[in-house]
Amino acid sequence: MGAFTSCPLAFRFSYVQRLPEPPSAPASKGTLVHRALELLLDRPGPQRTLTAALADLDRAAAELAAHPEFSGLDLGAEELERFRSDAEKLVRNYFELEDPAGVRPIGLEIKLDAKLDGVVIRGIIDRLELDADGELVISDYKTGNTPSERWEEQSLAGVHLYALLCEQNFGRRPARVQLLYLSKPEAIIARPSEGSVRSVVSKSKAIMMAVERACSRDDFRPRPSALCDFCSFREFCPSYGGDPAEAEVVMRQRAEAAVERPPLSLPLTVA
Ligand code: SF4
Repeated sequence: MGAFTSCPLAFRFSYVQRLPEPPSAPASKGTLVHRALELLLDRPGPQRTLTAALADLDRAAAELAAHPEFSGLDLGAEELERFRSDAEKLVRNYFELEDPAGVRPIGLEIKLDAKLDGVVIRGIIDRLELDADGELVISDYKTGNTPSERWEEQSLAGVHLYALLCEQNFGRRPARVQLLYLSKPEAIIARPSEGSVRSVVSKSKAIMMAVERACSRDDFRPRPSALCDFCSFREFCPSYGGDPAEAEVVMRQRAEAAVERPPLSLPLTVA
């Protein structure tokens, strides 16, 4: 839903045509840090130390090394070192946000779905936990930059949707949803209410109707924004003089021609 709202044309390339995209270092770094924190939170509380987290980062890097999202990254030695140290900094920053020893997770990377008027909504929740009062809390790790105050509300849309998924699956609305921005580090917290859930339902329905309309008319228009700088399909975008009809053949040929790279070998972290 976020992808369609940002740019319907980029959504079509990614989710309707399912064109292969080259991996991006920021997204791969996010995957790596998410996996490291999943491994950390899977440990018993007293074992969730910084030393353990850095070992989990190494373990996550070894696990993911052969995945195309990592092996396909074209990084020189210096960029590789920066990639590793940035990931380590994000893990270290996490400890400034909370003491993981006190967190009571009841689900990590859990996949939930729910039906809204016949449309299935799916989400993957980084962490579902219980607070001191036994209430549900949803936590979502973010490895990108903290949004400005103007975009704070919008950045919470995803976790409000997860609150709806929880309510439909477990019959309980979470008492708190939180975005843990690891780069600053900073936590953005909201308390879901009847009104916020109603609003997320009506917005989700409106977006899904817009997606269905765009699909039935094959009408996906470009929506230029700052995100264009990171768009894999910019050369095929009419807003930049490209032809969308060429994307299918070119992107698939590029993916097929991509040489198989060896697994990505990150330098080990130092506790
Ligand atoms: S370059 Fe911008 S407007 Fe064009 S498809 Fe990509 S995100 Fe959309």
